[in-house]
Amino acid sequence: MAHGGAVSLRSLVKRYDTELAVDGIDLDIQAGEFFSLLGPSGCGKTTTLRIIAGFEIPTDGQVLIDGVDVANEPPEKRPVNTVFQSYALFPHLSVFDNVAFGLRFTDVDRKWAHSKVGEALEQVRLTGKERRKPSQLSGGQQQRVALARAIVLRPRVLLLDEPLGALDAKLRKELQLELVKLQRDIGITFVYVTHDQEEALTMSNRLAVMNLGQISQCGTPHEVYDTPVNSYVADFLGVANVLPVSMVKPGALGSMVVRPERVKVSQSAGKRKNGHSGVVTESVFVGSTTQLHIAVGPHTIQALVANDGRLIPARGDSVCVEIPLDAVREFPE
Ligand code: ATP
Repeated sequence: MAHGGAVSLRSLVKRYDTELAVDGIDLDIQAGEFFSLLGPSGCGKTTTLRIIAGFEIPTDGQVLIDGVDVANEPPEKRPVNTVFQSYALFPHLSVFDNVAFGLRFTDVDRKWAHSKVGEALEQVRLTGKERRKPSQLSGGQQQRVALARAIVLRPRVLLLDEPLGALDAKLRKELQLELVKLQRDIGITFVYVTHDQEEALTMSNRLAVMNLGQISQCGTPHEVYDTPVNSYVADFLGVANVLPVSMVKPGALGSMVVRPERVKVSQSAGKRKNGHSGVVTESVFVGSTTQLHIAVGPHTIQALVANDGRLIPARGDSVCVEIPLDAVREFPE
């Protein structure tokens, strides 16, 4: 088991000419945590990761690893390693030699190198593929080689920059689970950059939602999904209805956010507590659920209903929409 691997960012700033890529980030990532930096393109997540790696020098602020300021340490001297979206394997080297390259050509004895490479390949489930060249492997397998190469020296922190970005949806899901298991097994801190909210929610112990070079909210997946601090976070973490508060509290001002899966839809247009009459404008079958767009007065509310055998409202149907009070998050005007 690896020990240590706490990362702290203090008032971190990175300016490129006139652009503030990172605009004052304070963050504590705990040792052994699977932590994600999540946000749209250009929000500064890759720059933050590259500063931790040592590939970028911050304009201001500090990076501490296990309490030690690493500002003057070059990338190869830091107890971190990075996995990129492009696997960056050496095409002419075998799987074994690609992973052994992670031992950084220190003058290692062959027996020791063999056992370390073997162990790393076992951890990424590639035992038996040692002699293959990268071109003889699938994309998912190539990314596993890159992972093995990154963990073979047991860095305290592994930085991953959209490592599954080039894979198709099914393989991506598989590798997400494998990465979580690998992280649990080896206990290294993972700092994972993604723009995919589902990926961040399913994999992380905690995550930071970023916007315009700043952290909008940091917390567990449950915290940020269920209690977003503003409508930006709510919206970024999945489809959210942003509606005027007056829909649940007549006369009140502000906006409220309700997740589509919490909106209750019934066929009968009978009056219920917090019930609103509406008309289905779209009904989209998405396998296990159906996505409904419902016109309620001037608003469109999205609802997600389970395809559990009950009759699903069709386009044009009149329905009753109910918004449970405990499903509502309010933000002041
Ligand atoms: P993506 O998911 O698209 O990679 P990101 O959230 O990782 O986005 P960054 O790559 O960190 O965002 O970029 C943050 C901002 O800094 C962007 O506006 C980008 O244009 C700018 N930027 C990044 N690198 C440089 C650079 N080397 N020179 C100038 N501007 C840069």
